[in-house]
Amino acid sequence: MVTESDSALAVSNPATADIIGYAPVSSDAEIKADIERSHTAQKHWAALPAKTRSGLLQRWFELLLENQEDLSRLMTLEQGKPLHEAQGEVLYGASFIEWFAEEAKRTYGETIPAHSGDKRFVTIKQPIGVACAITPWNFPIAMITRKAAPALAAGCSFIVKPSELTPLSAFAVVELAYQAGIPRDVIKVVLGNTAPQVGDIFTSHPLIRKLSFTGSTRVGSLLMQQSAHDIKRTSMELGGNAPFIVFEDADIDAAVKGALASKFRNAGQTCVCANRFYIHSNVYDTFVTKLDAEVQKLKVGNGLENDVNIGPVISESAKTGIQSKIDRAIEQGAIPVTPIQTLPGLFMQPVVLRNVSHDMDIVQQEIFGPVASIMRFDSDEELIHMANDTIYGLAAYFYSQNIHRVWKIAEALEYGMVGINEGIISTEVAPFGGIKQSGIGREGAKQGIDEYLDVKYLCFGGN
Ligand code: ADP
Repeated sequence: MVTESDSALAVSNPATADIIGYAPVSSDAEIKADIERSHTAQKHWAALPAKTRSGLLQRWFELLLENQEDLSRLMTLEQGKPLHEAQGEVLYGASFIEWFAEEAKRTYGETIPAHSGDKRFVTIKQPIGVACAITPWNFPIAMITRKAAPALAAGCSFIVKPSELTPLSAFAVVELAYQAGIPRDVIKVVLGNTAPQVGDIFTSHPLIRKLSFTGSTRVGSLLMQQSAHDIKRTSMELGGNAPFIVFEDADIDAAVKGALASKFRNAGQTCVCANRFYIHSNVYDTFVTKLDAEVQKLKVGNGLENDVNIGPVISESAKTGIQSKIDRAIEQGAIPVTPIQTLPGLFMQPVVLRNVSHDMDIVQQEIFGPVASIMRFDSDEELIHMANDTIYGLAAYFYSQNIHRVWKIAEALEYGMVGINEGIISTEVAPFGGIKQSGIGREGAKQGIDEYLDVKYLCFGGN
């Protein structure tokens, strides 16, 4: 990455390699000063009536909608995803702000029947304090709003370090928060000299009480270890290895449609995207033929051009990593259904691999690229074993029309989220999150705001 000076980070367009802008970089001392100001501001923010915070968040939501075109264009320029996907992400990102503007007013406590007549028990929920976040490049806006909105709704102040690859969307979306009237010290974007340096400050600073992270399991584990030092609360949205399963009783055309959406959205660079396909032997050939026919129709190109379905991958190292996974799979016996074309720059031809087996490296690792690896299975028992045979537990998908099988498989899959006859599952109204090494905590839904609240129990004696 090129820096213009010590205090600016160059941001480039993955489709063209052109530098599109510079983002400000703060020194360690500036970040620490930001945290102190954020701590002071949080007290005033939390003291506002929930309805007032809600109104400011509602205005922020409206400003995202009013600026949808500019935000989408900026996102495509720095991240590469097709413009229509960027437009969708702005709406999706905004939906969390709307949802938590509503939830701000509903952080109810409880009354609890006491165990003796002279006591009264009550719980109240209070904001944790200063919350910070570290976010990735694959959803440059939504990964921020689904942390910032519940934090602000709860009465926390919020500081985010976005990915160094997509900071401009972060600065833009937070600028809209200021335009909505949210005070500058209540929400802030910072970039430091290096990501680990900011991670160190966030996890060691005594005024920060909460860290929410979305990214790799490796970095998440590191940040949890660092946060353990003074027992900071953490939420972790980490890697995935989603199985996509098609039973012989499935609607195959619906499964192909779901597979395309789940696997190839954002060039396969999402943590919930299908990473490995298990298809019942009786429908394997039909599914492979139909999926490959659709994949060959996908148009690869600059996301600003019309009708592009797949933009560039994010970086040279991402491209090399995906290519080496494909090469290794082919060495181990996988066969591309249609021969793979090599494309220039950061573009990659989407590929369907058949003849894949469960023990291949490509099945065990997160691919994060436009590659569908397709395996066969014969029995439900064998399938359940293979589907759960991973350290990850984020999302899983399956297609079946048999209600008994649907319940059995839905309960047996060890994942935080399961798409049943559906390839796209994320929404602000449902809890997003993983189990096992895919993470801790939930984002969105009624659960999302609890990640930023402490429960306090009040015991009233002498009644
Ligand atoms: P990805 O492989 O998807 O980029 P990472 O986990 O490497 O996932 O990155 C996600 C976020 O974590 C980014 O904002 C990145 O800058 C940040 N990051 C990477 N390494 C560290 C670290 N050691 N400490 C804190 N943040 C980090």
